[in-house]
Amino acid sequence: MSNASPSGSLKRMINHLNSILRQWITAEDLKPPELDCAGCSMAITDPLNGERWRKNKCCTFQPFFPNFYLGAILNDFPRELASAQVYLGPLGMIANEDFRARWLTTVEEFKGENHHCFFYDHHQRKCTVWAFRPGECSTYFCQPVARAAEMSHKTFAVESAVAQMAMIELGYSPDDVSREVETLNSGVGSKDWSYEKVLTVYRRSWEWSQELQPKQIQQWLDFDILGRVAR
Ligand code: SF4
Ligand code: SF4
Repeated sequence: MSNASPSGSLKRMINHLNSILRQWITAEDLKPPELDCAGCSMAITDPLNGERWRKNKCCTFQPFFPNFYLGAILNDFPRELASAQVYLGPLGMIANEDFRARWLTTVEEFKGENHHCFFYDHHQRKCTVWAFRPGECSTYFCQPVARAAEMSHKTFAVESAVAQMAMIELGYSPDDVSREVETLNSGVGSKDWSYEKVLTVYRRSWEWSQELQPKQIQQWLDFDILGRVAR
C-alpha cells in the first residue's frame, strides 16, 4: 500500500469500505489499497511473527457488528450467532465482558485462537463475512495511513447511528437504546433479550436500512459523511 496525499488515501479508504457503507459514504472511485489480506502482507513484512500473522491475520479482536449487518449476514449466510464471547442485543453483536477481560489481559504477541473474532474461520484462516466486515476492519491497513483513524471513527459513528435508528424504527424506546449503547461501551448487558427476538430485529433492521439515503444519515450525525468527506 503506497502513501499518497491525504485526500487520495481517504478516497481509497472509502473504496475499501464494505458495500453497505459505500452507499452512504461516497467519493470518486479509485483503486483500493494494495494489500494481500488472503496471504496477509504482514506475514512477509514482519517475518519474525510471520506464522502468527498467517494464522490469525489481524482478527484477534471482536469488533461491534451493528444489527443491520447481522441481518445482511443472516440473509446471505444463515448461521448460528450465539457464542460464549459475544452479547447479542437489539443494537447488534458486542464483545462480552469475558472476552474483553481475556483480550485486555493478554499481550499482543500472545493473542491467538482464544481472541479470534466470532466471524474468523481459524481453519481456513480467513474472515467469513468480508463483504460485511465493519468499518473498523475496513479502515485497518496494518501500517500508518493518513486519516485512517478519522475514517474509522466516522464509519463507527455511521454504523452506531443507523443501528440506533433501526431500534427506534422497530419500536424500541429511547431508554432501551441508551441501555444498549451502555452495553456497547461496557460489554455488560443489562437485559437478556431472547435469541429469536434479536434475530428478528437484525433481519428487519437490514430490510429497513436498505432504503436509507445518505442525507437521512447525515441528519443524525454531526459530521459530513457525503463525498465532501474526501476534501
Ligand atoms: S489488513 Fe490484516 S489481513 Fe490484511 S494484510 Fe494487514 S494484517 Fe494482514
Ligand atoms: S469481521 Fe472479518 S476482518 Fe473483521 S475481525 Fe472479524 S473476521 Fe476479521
